[in-house]
Amino acid sequence: MNPIQMVDLKVQYQNIKAEVDAALQNVMNNTAFINGPEVKAFQEELQSYLGVKHVIPCANGTDALQIAMMALDLQPGDEVITASFTYVATAEVIALLKLKPVLVDVDPHTFNIDPAAIEKAITPKTKAIVPVHLFGQCADMDPILEIARKHNLYVIEDTAQAIGAKYTHRDGSVSTAGCMGHIGATSFFPSKNLGCYGDGGALFTNDDQLADSMRMIANHGQKVRYYHDSIGVNSRLDSMQAAILRIKLRKLDEYTAARNKAADFYDRAFADVPQLTTPARATNSTHVFHQYTLVSSGIDRFKMQEYLASKNIPSMVYYPVPLHMQKAYTDPRYKEGDFPITEELCKHVISLPMHTELTQEQLDYIVQEVKAFVGQ
Ligand SMILES: *Cc1c(COP(=O)(O)O)cnc(C)c1O
Repeated sequence: MNPIQMVDLKVQYQNIKAEVDAALQNVMNNTAFINGPEVKAFQEELQSYLGVKHVIPCANGTDALQIAMMALDLQPGDEVITASFTYVATAEVIALLKLKPVLVDVDPHTFNIDPAAIEKAITPKTKAIVPVHLFGQCADMDPILEIARKHNLYVIEDTAQAIGAKYTHRDGSVSTAGCMGHIGATSFFPSKNLGCYGDGGALFTNDDQLADSMRMIANHGQKVRYYHDSIGVNSRLDSMQAAILRIKLRKLDEYTAARNKAADFYDRAFADVPQLTTPARATNSTHVFHQYTLVSSGIDRFKMQEYLASKNIPSMVYYPVPLHMQKAYTDPRYKEGDFPITEELCKHVISLPMHTELTQEQLDYIVQEVKAFVGQ
């Protein structure tokens, strides 16, 4: 049995090595390292995969969020609503741009932002909502889009963990994660579902003007070289990363299916383990299982991690500390107890190995050892 990893990029690479090596060699032969033909081709292929009008590649997912907020011309002091249970990047760019992050609690089952809590957090200063499609399934977008329309707010979807997830609207129509709000922001960090071999990110939009503006901001605020119309940033996807992403995009559906197969197996295996609640599936979203996250009860999950580690099984806690209790984000507006669901989740969640290359032998072994720890 191969060693078990949280994310097995080594075996994944071995399986696509010939294609990847040839593509990288091709970039080196062409030496168009930045903004080469691979970047343009990837952009077009991702547009058609997602069914979105514009994809704007950039350097990473955090930049994507920042460029989105700059393009919407949000001003210092404007309030931006986001989930208290998320990766720090979401709140980080809000704070960096001197906007005011307004946190709201999440749904205890899907772990995604609670639309009812969003509505309660709106003030005259609210300008945008940033739903995060956490762990691989879409936040409940219909009510979020409705609230946004009613209050004239922008919606920026943080889809770094949910590329390719599909949301079914109340009218039966289907949208892709990141393509429902004004802007979608994603990351191609190596461990993401569509990951490159370095840093990368992208923005999605159906709005021509926003697309123009984001392209300009990502490129030093210039449309014509050396003529700067606005203050921008330097945020580019390089050609080698684009070449790798083109290969992995062609495999993305297959990869998502492999993740779902592993998740289904875990679900069945832990269905009768009272100490572990398996992740709920939203009724209106597919799941791309960026993470497979259990909620534990009546056990010490850090002891479980130690036990699993002693059996060479990695596990992770995403995320141990809610945003409002992070040192950098302490704010007199918030105190412990304000976001009870987020706080409970941070105390009880544990994520198991989840990737595209898990073998049945590895899955059997992981399940066997998890059950051995809980005494089943
Ligand atoms: C990974 C991630 C980001 C940031 O992406 P980087 O490419 O690492 O900057 C933002 N939001 C969420 C939810 C993420 O998981």
